Amino acid sequence: MIIMKFGGTSTQDAAAMLNVTEIVKSHLHKHPFVVISAIAQATNQLEQMCNLAKSGDLEGGQVVLKNFIKRHLYIVNQAITDPVEKIAINTKINNIGEELAELIRGVAIIKELTPRILDKFYSYGELLSSMIVYHIMKEKGIDSLWIDTKDFMITDDNYNRALPVMESVHDKLISLTGDLLKEGKTLVTQGFIGFTLDGDRTTMGRESSDFSAAIIGSVLNAEDIQIWTDVDGILTGDPNIVENPKKIKVLSFEEAYELSLLGAKVLHPNTMLPALEKNIPIHVFNSKRPQISGTLVSNSANTFTPQNASVIKSVTYKTNINLINIRPKVRSTPFVFWEHIFNLFTKYKINPLLTSTSEFKFSAAFETKSNIDSLKHEIGEIGDFKIKEGLALISLVGSNVLHDYSLNEKIFSEFRRTKINFMSFGTSESSISFMIPVDHFKETVRRLHQIFFETQDDSNIFESLQTTNIITPDKEA
Ligand code: ASP
Ligand code: MG
Repeated sequence: MIIMKFGGTSTQDAAAMLNVTEIVKSHLHKHPFVVISAIAQATNQLEQMCNLAKSGDLEGGQVVLKNFIKRHLYIVNQAITDPVEKIAINTKINNIGEELAELIRGVAIIKELTPRILDKFYSYGELLSSMIVYHIMKEKGIDSLWIDTKDFMITDDNYNRALPVMESVHDKLISLTGDLLKEGKTLVTQGFIGFTLDGDRTTMGRESSDFSAAIIGSVLNAEDIQIWTDVDGILTGDPNIVENPKKIKVLSFEEAYELSLLGAKVLHPNTMLPALEKNIPIHVFNSKRPQISGTLVSNSANTFTPQNASVIKSVTYKTNINLINIRPKVRSTPFVFWEHIFNLFTKYKINPLLTSTSEFKFSAAFETKSNIDSLKHEIGEIGDFKIKEGLALISLVGSNVLHDYSLNEKIFSEFRRTKINFMSFGTSESSISFMIPVDHFKETVRRLHQIFFETQDDSNIFESLQTTNIITPDKEA
């Protein structure tokens, strides 16, 4: 069996949902398990309506809710033909609208929005989209069944960024789906959302539906995890910045993980973890051009790179990065100080993107949304804390990046032109990262891309975006 996950742009309207149904139909021989994201912008609308209510603008929240419900009703009215079915689904959607209206009133009265309540709001996006896709699939003749993640996707109660409790997910998912899969049912469920053992909805972080797909795939030992999105695959650079980006045909799990962690948005970084553990390939496909071969993430990707040869596969970036520098006020016991810092990371669940230590100094790069204030506060008495805000992090990601010394010259010739605030070199075989002032980042990314990719024509690894590499369905997996 395979997992097929469809993102928000792949389900954004009736035409897109009908297209999803066609794509699933063409894969029925592989026994798909379908994972659906909220329709494009729905999660943002849910966030917006409850934030408006919290700020006291109940009416504003209700307007957003009305629009949110209307979008879903519109899809059903266009995509479902049976009038009786149409009425039944519209009733379900309107009931959800009433539940949300009640929740909004509650938030507006108490003027407080806890992470737990926010997750409750978020959950309706995926519940609605997956329900509609299921009904369309059924009407188009697919023997499908809708299942609710509350019956198997058990997570901890770390609301807004919960993690799955894998033993529970495993037991529940196997007992819930074992017979249904044997009967040949096409199951449809939600990405992104989970459920605590206490009975509350959770979410696993924005954009984490890919992660849901990989969790389900690893429990069910899928032969392939397919992430259907709106681009041809993972690219050598951001098409909004670089000229002529190429599609990367193959990436190792390690490369894909580092690439998504360091900036590329196509896959949620956690997606790679369950897949890697079971060695299940991940394919990124474009639902608007389903005949294109996409990008393959797998361990076999290593076989495309000659042993020990360096290949840079992508240049990526993140902006809004803060750099902190900390040193102990008393130098005599640095190891106690290091221990203290790492304990604080655990205590406040803050995850530095990169770190570096010299004898008496510690530096770390964080996304601006991290909870650095509490770190600063607790370090107070015993350390000096300095912070540089709003930097850009630029990374080159690929295989064996430390092996080829000639890379050094290429890279550092570029950094002659701009200040480096921090760099990470040597910890990973798959990436090299630099932090620089944000006003230089675009031209630096553009030039690095030029240096590494505009002459690069290894057709085992890269493919021009103009090439239409048609595949037959059986060659995909
Ligand atoms: N709908 C969720 C979000 O917008 C999850 C996802 O799309 O992966 O973040
Ligand atoms: Mg995504």
